[in-house]
Amino acid sequence: MTTRIGWEHQAVCRSVGIDTMFEPGKAQRTNKKVCAQCPVRAECLTEALEGEHEYGIWGGLTERERRKLIRDNQHSTSWTQLVATMLQPAGRVTR
Ligand code: SF4
Repeated sequence: MTTRIGWEHQAVCRSVGIDTMFEPGKAQRTNKKVCAQCPVRAECLTEALEGEHEYGIWGGLTERERRKLIRDNQHSTSWTQLVATMLQPAGRVTR
């Protein structure tokens, strides 16, 4: 069983049942839609990457998507920074 701590009280997936986020296979593509409006998506995805959580949907990414993200960024020194950049709204300019 996976434990989510700290930010979990703000998790939108609590309203649909956390088990929904751990359904296997193709269901993940549908179930991850709940993450789009989640205020703790960055924290959730960072937790998964830092904790090397293999299973379930975390931060709006399926297991397969997270594996690809890790492969494509295997030399990243900060998952926090990478996730912040990834989830930055399109068109937003940072200074
Ligand atoms: S990003 Fe998705 S899986 Fe993570 S806490 Fe939010 S709703 Fe749940």
